[in-house]
Amino acid sequence: MLGREKIKNLLGSKETGKTVEVKGWVRTRRGNKKIAFIAVNDGSVIHNIQCVADVAEFDEETLRAVTTGACVRIKGTLVESMGQGQNVEIQAEEIEIYGKADPETYPLQKKGHTLEFLRTIAHLRPRTNTFGAIFRMRHALAFACHKFFNDYGFHYLHTPIITGSDAEGAGEMFRVSVLDPINPPLKENGEVDYSEDFFGKETNLTVSGQLEGELGALALTEIYTFGPTFRAENSNTPRHLAEFWMIEPEMAFYDIKDNMDLAESLLKFLVSYVLEKCKDDIEFLSKMYEPELINRLNSVLDNDFIRIGYTEAIEILKSSNEKFEFPVNWGLDLQSEHERYLVEKHFKKPVILTDYPSSIKAFYMKQNDDGKTVRAMDVLFPGIGEIIGGSQREEDFDRLNRRIEELNIPKKDLWWYLETRKFGTAPHSGFGLGFERMVLFVTGMGNIRDVIPFPRTPKNAEF
Ligand code: ATP
Ligand code: MN
Repeated sequence: MLGREKIKNLLGSKETGKTVEVKGWVRTRRGNKKIAFIAVNDGSVIHNIQCVADVAEFDEETLRAVTTGACVRIKGTLVESMGQGQNVEIQAEEIEIYGKADPETYPLQKKGHTLEFLRTIAHLRPRTNTFGAIFRMRHALAFACHKFFNDYGFHYLHTPIITGSDAEGAGEMFRVSVLDPINPPLKENGEVDYSEDFFGKETNLTVSGQLEGELGALALTEIYTFGPTFRAENSNTPRHLAEFWMIEPEMAFYDIKDNMDLAESLLKFLVSYVLEKCKDDIEFLSKMYEPELINRLNSVLDNDFIRIGYTEAIEILKSSNEKFEFPVNWGLDLQSEHERYLVEKHFKKPVILTDYPSSIKAFYMKQNDDGKTVRAMDVLFPGIGEIIGGSQREEDFDRLNRRIEELNIPKKDLWWYLETRKFGTAPHSGFGLGFERMVLFVTGMGNIRDVIPFPRTPKNAEF
């Protein structure tokens, strides 16, 4: 065994009679003057192990410190449990207190706090059942992403977090600078002189690893990135973070159809992986928050995703009798109300929309011959809306160059990107999966702030 004994393994063990030792945090302590029942959790599994202590066998001071939240080491014999809900328990022989938790001031002394309150104590909320379950599932999903891509021969490419191009067009950026904010060096025209800054130019936190990912795909053929991305938009919604993680596969020789097939297989694999590996956590979360959770996960596995064009989707929305806040017209950038109508009311399954108007999509998407639309694809999920955004990329130098000029994108920041179209260009495609949106979906939680350990949102970076 490496390190300590895990409660997860002990709870599944049949080796009663054996001496074992657990280390973890006390969730509850019950009992009477003679006997104490101590439930200990170490985060390896949602369940606690029950430790039973004969009060007479231990000194008073130690037992007094065994309160909710305290960190303990308990050694004893693994025995069959008479109690309900567990097969085994520990008959305690040794108790050591690593860290006390004063019952008068420990914020999680009582159960039943709201998720809103728990957000204000993000430093302690991992010790609740809910957040333990969410963060174990988050881990399982991340691992499953790497497994999926590794099994298909994709290479994990680390794209930069600090970027010198602000032309990615995916949103407002956070500046990275070491200049004195009160007294920055100025150019003659009064503007800040970034040639004096750390990198000798303006730099920002990346909004997407895609452009660099494309460079990798045009050499390694299939790559993916999995890293933090940053958007300085003031969107205070339950589905947006200022710092979130994105998985971005990019594949040479994939057209839009191959791209859709990959997106659908990835999402199905991720769902089936957590259904298999995270049963206890899913069961807990569905009982507490979302009774339909397991059905919703299964419906992703059991259905082919609907694939339709944007234009057809607009027709469906127009002929629906829904009152939308944003009126539906061809050219509209679909809002989450429209996406959710299509997925939840009209089709009742995941939908992949393609061929959006070029005016609402990024410059790098492959232009269709109609001159109006691009080969974009968004995957829309029940309860979430957009979970993936992607496209086939424009591989033709002249068309890409023309689009960059039309949109007045500064070419000096993108010369390296354009060169890939000059030297050995290839048809290629890719997409971005918002990791937290995926965690939202599989946990059934309603707010993206509750599926990342330390959420970054407007006016919030406390922890
Ligand atoms: P939205 O329209 O929902 O704001 P977007 O179209 O701006 O998203 P993309 O640039 O296409 O997003 O990013 C790819 C994916 O990253 C999205 O499909 C979504 O899953 C996720 N994503 C985008 N912005 C955020 C955010 N602020 N917080 C969390 N996830 C995000
Ligand atoms: Mn998008």
